[in-house]
Amino acid sequence: MANTTPKSLRRRMHSVMFKAPMMITCEEFESFILEYIEGDLSPRQKMIFEMHLRVCAECRAYLKEYERARALTEAQRNIESTEVPDDLIAAILAARGA
Ligand SMILES: [Zn+2]
Repeated sequence: MANTTPKSLRRRMHSVMFKAPMMITCEEFESFILEYIEGDLSPRQKMIFEMHLRVCAECRAYLKEYERARALTEAQRNIESTEVPDDLIAAILAARGA
């Protein structure tokens, strides 16, 4: 259905939406992604972020890719951390006061 919309019209709709005061650009969206995934955004920032997500298919796709890449990185980190000796982990935790 979206494919039947002329590209020029879609672009115009896009710019109108981004002119709204609560709207952010795709660049701002990208700079917020890590905070969003880690839950570091304030409720207001999160709302603005999710609003952009709703209107921008490109950023939806980008977020999906980003989360996938991040999951892979996490998985790798977990594998690496199992190779750390238990007593080293205990020493680090003790140093942190945990
Ligand atoms: Zn976007």
